[in-house]
Amino acid sequence: MKKVFAIRFTAVFIALMVMTGCSTKLNNSGKDDGKLKVVTTYSILYDIVKEVGGEHVSIHSIVPIGTDPHEFDPLPKDVQHMTDADLVLSNGLNLETGNGWFQKLLETSGKDGDDAPVAELSKGVKVKHLSSKGLETQQDPHAWLNVENGILYALNARDALIKADPAHKDDYEKNATAYIKKLQALHDEAKDKFDQLPDDRKQLVTSEGAFKYFAHAYGLKAGYIWEINTESEGTPGQMKRIIHFVRDHRVPALFLETSVDSRSLESLSEETGVPIKGKVFTDSIGKQGEDGDSYYNMMKWNIDTIYNGLKS
Ligand SMILES: [Zn+2]
Repeated sequence: MKKVFAIRFTAVFIALMVMTGCSTKLNNSGKDDGKLKVVTTYSILYDIVKEVGGEHVSIHSIVPIGTDPHEFDPLPKDVQHMTDADLVLSNGLNLETGNGWFQKLLETSGKDGDDAPVAELSKGVKVKHLSSKGLETQQDPHAWLNVENGILYALNARDALIKADPAHKDDYEKNATAYIKKLQALHDEAKDKFDQLPDDRKQLVTSEGAFKYFAHAYGLKAGYIWEINTESEGTPGQMKRIIHFVRDHRVPALFLETSVDSRSLESLSEETGVPIKGKVFTDSIGKQGEDGDSYYNMMKWNIDTIYNGLKS
C-alpha cells in the first residue's frame, strides 16, 4: 500500500510540472492579493477559518465537499497551495492519517519542520478514543461534532491567524468573538432540545461511529456499523452486531451521513424495519447554497434532524 501511494505521489509531482492548478468552490486563493494564504485539510475547517479570518485570508481547502478526509489522494494543485501557504491548519486527532496523505503533503511541501507554520485546530479538546477491539489506543477525530469543541476550533483558528498575521489581530479577535457567540447559542439550544427527549429515544445510530463527541455533549447513546472510515465498511460481523444493537435498544430511527456509502445503512434499515429519518453531516459541510453549507448550518441541521427524527 505504502509503495503504491509513493508512486502515486511521484506521479502527482510529475503532473505538477505540466499542469496548472485549477480553482474549486473551496478555493479563493492563488492570487497574490496581499491576503494571508491559508490551507485547510477539509471543508469544516475551511468554513471556521473563513468566519474568523474574514477579508484578510484566502483559503484553499484540500479535501472537496462531500469527500472523506480520512483517506485522500491530493492533487497537484494541493501540493502547490501547500508550498505557497503562509499557514496550514489541520484537524489532527488521527483524522488525516488514513493513508498518510497529509504527512506526505507536509513533507513534499517543506512544511514538516519544527518551526513550520502548521497548527491543529483540535488542540485542547478532551480526547475520546475508539472502542473497537484492537483500536482502543487510537484517537477519535470527530471532535467538531460537539459545538463546544467547534468553539475551541474557532479560538485555535484565531490564535493561529494572529500568530501568522499580527497586523490584523483586532479583526481576528472581533470576528472570533461574534462567531463564538453564535455557536454558543446553538450549543445551548441543542442541550435544551435533547433534554426534552424521553430517555428511551436518546439513541443515535449512523454508519460511521462519528458521533461520540456529539452523543456525549447532548446526552445520547451512539451506535454505528463501523467505528471509523479507515476500517472495512459493512462487513457481515459489523452488520450482525448493529442489528442486535438496534433491536435490543429499540432504536427509533437511523441517520445517514452525507459523506459515506449509503448501502450498509439502507440494508440495516431493511433488516430491522427501522426507518432512516434523514441525512446528517459528519466529515464535510454541504455544497454551497444547499443544506448544511457551513459549520454552523451543518450542526444546526444535524441537531434539528436528529431531534425531529428521534422525538416522533
Ligand atoms: Zn469520519
